[in-house]
Amino acid sequence: MGLERRVFLGLTLAGAGSWGLDQWLVGPPEEAASRLPAKVRISRFDATGRLTGTVELPTIRKTDAQWKASLPVDQYMVTRRGDTELAFAGEYWNFHGDGLYLCVCCGTALFDSKLKFNSGTGWPSFTQPIATANVLESPDHSFGTNRTEVSCRLCGGHLGHLFDDGPPPEHNRFCMNSVALRFVPRENNLT
Ligand code: FE
Repeated sequence: MGLERRVFLGLTLAGAGSWGLDQWLVGPPEEAASRLPAKVRISRFDATGRLTGTVELPTIRKTDAQWKASLPVDQYMVTRRGDTELAFAGEYWNFHGDGLYLCVCCGTALFDSKLKFNSGTGWPSFTQPIATANVLESPDHSFGTNRTEVSCRLCGGHLGHLFDDGPPPEHNRFCMNSVALRFVPRENNLT
């Protein structure tokens, strides 16, 4: 009788596991948050753009309804639904301020203006992120394409895509959506 109980319990758990996997693969937008690890290690920078160290933080998880309520619709559509802003229409494609670009959702430092270049595409473009630890690169096969999606490591917000037609030597072009970023001017006179 004891054996039967254990077998039954095992089958039940296996069934629950399969159901959970299916939900995970085809879930609604809020399920994306559950795919983030519980914690990530993020690089921190001061207002001059200098690396100050790394810190382990719990990832930022909100339901789709919470994100929708906390973001303007254009920011929500890009960062939470993977939309792309129109070329030559965003705030930063032709912006040349000296400073840092933070995640509009969670404030994580993502790009330094010193690594920005004019790609001619109409989207703000960078040769690399301010720290590889702060962004996540993942395959994106949407619309029949074979692209690399770039998102914020801490909150999972969609930022844009990485292409290999950037300037030498790395040839990276981090093609970002202005609306996913928030620029803060560099403070040069910190003592
Ligand atoms: Fe973020």
